[in-house]
Amino acid sequence: MIRVDHARVFDGERVRDGVSVLIDDGLVVAVTPTAPQDPTARPGATADGPATGMAEVAGMAEVAEVAGAVEVTEVIDGSGHTLLPGLIDGHTHVMGTLHNLRLALAFGVTTELDLFSFPPALTGWLRDTAARTDDVADLRSSGTVMCATGGHPAASMPFLPTLAGPRDAWEQVTARRKEGAHCIKMMLDDGGHHGADLPTLDGPTASAVTAAARREGLPTVAHIADAETVRAALDAEVDAFTHVPMAAPLPGDLVARTAADGRFVIPTLAMMEMSSGTRGGRGLADDDRIGAHLPADAAAAIRTGTEGLAVTVPSPDLDFAHALGTTRRLHEAGVTLVAGTDANNAPGRACPVVHGAALHRELELLVAAGLTPVEALRAATSAPARLFGLSDRGRIAPGLRADLLLVEGDPTTDITATRAIRRIWRRGVPFDREEFRTARQTPARPAPRPAVPGTSTPDTNGTGPGRRDGRATADSELTAVGSTSLAPAAARARESGRPDRLFDDPVATQVAVAAGAALAAWSGPRGERLRRAMGDYFALRTRYFDDWLLEAVGSGCRQVVVLAAGLDARAFRLDWPAPLRLFELDRADVLSFKEKIVTGRAPAPGCVRIPMAGDLRDDWPRTLRAHGFDPRVPTAWLLEGILVYLTEQEGDELLGRVGELSAPASRLALEYGSRAMFATDTTRAALDHAATTDTLHTLSALWRNESTADPVARLTGHGWAARSREITDLAARYERPVPPAFDPTVPGTARIALLQATRA
Ligand code: SAM
Repeated sequence: MIRVDHARVFDGERVRDGVSVLIDDGLVVAVTPTAPQDPTARPGATADGPATGMAEVAGMAEVAEVAGAVEVTEVIDGSGHTLLPGLIDGHTHVMGTLHNLRLALAFGVTTELDLFSFPPALTGWLRDTAARTDDVADLRSSGTVMCATGGHPAASMPFLPTLAGPRDAWEQVTARRKEGAHCIKMMLDDGGHHGADLPTLDGPTASAVTAAARREGLPTVAHIADAETVRAALDAEVDAFTHVPMAAPLPGDLVARTAADGRFVIPTLAMMEMSSGTRGGRGLADDDRIGAHLPADAAAAIRTGTEGLAVTVPSPDLDFAHALGTTRRLHEAGVTLVAGTDANNAPGRACPVVHGAALHRELELLVAAGLTPVEALRAATSAPARLFGLSDRGRIAPGLRADLLLVEGDPTTDITATRAIRRIWRRGVPFDREEFRTARQTPARPAPRPAVPGTSTPDTNGTGPGRRDGRATADSELTAVGSTSLAPAAARARESGRPDRLFDDPVATQVAVAAGAALAAWSGPRGERLRRAMGDYFALRTRYFDDWLLEAVGSGCRQVVVLAAGLDARAFRLDWPAPLRLFELDRADVLSFKEKIVTGRAPAPGCVRIPMAGDLRDDWPRTLRAHGFDPRVPTAWLLEGILVYLTEQEGDELLGRVGELSAPASRLALEYGSRAMFATDTTRAALDHAATTDTLHTLSALWRNESTADPVARLTGHGWAARSREITDLAARYERPVPPAFDPTVPGTARIALLQATRA
């Protein structure tokens, strides 16, 4: 048991002096009047560090009575310090990475409320990991945001599920609850401040969302932009709105109505300030109490960052003074305010509102808006805990989680003293801030793109346009054929957002976010024709090979090789039996793009994942062996979406090499397409009607397999006993429509073969 003596205690509601706080087994077990000093007692720990050895305990009778006869192992002298509940940030975006939750904890934020994170599997993994691991902030999330079809943010994230009308509300809210959402976030912003005019949820749909959320017991938070959207949020009877308008003061009737309706507000002043012309929070990294513990990328983000969700070019129409003034008036009207930052920095993505650190600025800004320091502290502790149903935290009281912060000085009179952190406990476990400080470093930037052997081969398998500013996005990095990996990734991201999804691919969404303009070829209007033709094909194909792979490893294959792996995330998302090695091979452009995305963001793989760069037209077996591949072990080989991009000769060489490396009982699965199978009447007609910029043209120019051989016969010739699975069977099995491009009942459509084989 740990005891903190002589500290001023802010218990989440009020200031208490002369009390000791006892912590045991992850909980606060007692808050008792401090016993008189025993002159014979050896000093225990100071606020700056733990005691060495066992402290003697004076006057423990009372404590023992309250806390039971548990031995006190450490006494911390908190003189000159203040003990607070761990801080709760009421509005963040965890951006798919645990790194942010660790950063948050390093600045005393023991719980983050994420208000939009996707895909559900990744959010769930982060939440579960944060629940288990005491060296990151705990996480609650709204999961996927509720937004209008074509609205913000779906316009730039086309794979998100959206609501076309009130009838979608029930299904979407239920889906969120099943995914583990802690609240429901809805977007009521037409993007007008950023020059857009997007659809938003209309009144009946927003009301249907709040009604459904209430039935599911989930609080609702609306993202607002201006007075009209505040009115819409109040009309929809949300529990809270987040952000405050910056174009004008919020009209008095809306301030009064917010108070009268009992709504709470998360103003996110730290973000509003950075999005406005003032950018006053830039100095945060120069406060040594913050800067000394910031990783270099986070410090640089605060000083110079304009990415993330902060507005890159502040509009002259937006005035931060309106945000402060409205916050002041809401507070004066009696509206409960919750401290939230909208932090959304992620490794390699320079947003100036940084997890953890930004909450200290938010507290300062709340005081600037007229809250007393104690009121500001409530807004970051007891208020969010109460309003978001976190009844086990947010206060210092017996039986509550020992999420605690010991700071030097008195933040109840000088709010910036929250920055002078001396101790942090999450669920009673001390966070080693010194270790964090010394280990902190900029998360690795992607290595410069290595030269790829074979790219000089004159073909369409070549290099795309590059960016010169060193910033990595798919459009700058990927070759023409490399960018075909975005098509299945975009489709997998879309599938992951469906309530009846055939799989959940957390990496695919990250890919879609990172892909930038390159994704437009697959998700934008240029790709519309292709997308419609393919229907659910990629989802069916993915699931088919998922099932096959698990069966292959279940039947004894102890290594998996995914050739032309692209942005495949099976290493991270399938439940692999241990021990299993999974080799992923693709061209260097795709590999470096992918590694940048998965590093720090993807769930830990359930296998030993060995990614490597190589060209399937070169001596890739040497590369594979050099990475530990053992040809004596039965292998499951996957060639998904590759053979059509290789000539017949290249394909035969590839299959020959796979055969040579395959021990008896090895398995092989592949998708087989050729020009003969694809270049049918319907394809030709579609190409004739499509603009030359249409993705169909880009793609058809890459098809190089001229073989007219039957695919099963071709595999038989390479020593495999193969069989083909009809796409119509798969569609029936998974209750999906037959993909229009491959519908055999429609004359002139294309064909595709999905094959599986065993080494004969
Ligand atoms: N199998 C992945 C999937 O289903 O998500 C990716 C399929 S994508 C349509 C085709 C992939 O083949 C791209 O990632 C591309 O880089 C890769 N590729 C094409 N030609 C290649 C070559 N010569 N060597 C290695 N990879 C190649």
